[in-house]
Amino acid sequence: MKSIPKKKIIEALKDQQNIFGDYLFEEKLPKPQAHYEEIPEVIEVVREPVDKTANLFEPTEDWQSAKSLDELNLLIKDCTKCVLHKNRNNFVFGSGNPNAEVMVIGEGPGAEEDKQGLPFVGRAGQLLTDILKAIKFERDEVYIANIVKCRPPENRTPLPEEMETCIPYLKKQISLIQPKMILCLGLTAAKGLLRKKESLTALRGKFFDYEGIKVMVTFHPAALLRNPNWKKDCWEDVKKFRKMYDEIVK
Ligand code: URA
Repeated sequence: MKSIPKKKIIEALKDQQNIFGDYLFEEKLPKPQAHYEEIPEVIEVVREPVDKTANLFEPTEDWQSAKSLDELNLLIKDCTKCVLHKNRNNFVFGSGNPNAEVMVIGEGPGAEEDKQGLPFVGRAGQLLTDILKAIKFERDEVYIANIVKCRPPENRTPLPEEMETCIPYLKKQISLIQPKMILCLGLTAAKGLLRKKESLTALRGKFFDYEGIKVMVTFHPAALLRNPNWKKDCWEDVKKFRKMYDEIVK
């Protein structure tokens, strides 16, 4: 019988791992019998990290294997996957420290961001800079990105299908940056990243886990501009965020 190349076996096992999860490989294997002697070697190899952005049933796209943020930006900046591309002046990829320990995630570009091609550069952006400063972060020390990268018309909330289309780009950014903590600004960011359905009131000020990263949800700065009486609660949230940072990162 023709022997199957080792590479093919590893790929097949990785596919199984993608479909059925890690637990298949975590149980102790029975002691190898004489004619299975080579199998344990293969099992060790499948313990390598699996690219979770890869989907077995869809063709992979070039950007999924980008090795840096710059490369990723080049590969996705002309995206036309959803209707938001039609009215954009600029694709707002994100900005900041590519090795940041902290990422800040907003909803989507507004008029000023669309004009400049940078996130949070309008009035809400100025308030965000002040909030970060208040908890001793410089703006260029963190990385700032959004759930969708093109401006929704009239600054409306991005539609679920627009979010679903764009979030894989954000997830790839997160996997390249590997932050220790993420601050989600507003409910759209929380829903998009954490897949939560609760209200902002229920979610804010608590820590959640996203792939081993500590995530906190707080108010969107634009909401604080509209309702300054929420600033006090936001302050409590971000102080807690900083405290956690001092404990686990600093
Ligand atoms: N609001 C957001 O959510 N993101 C921006 O980049 C600007 C305003």
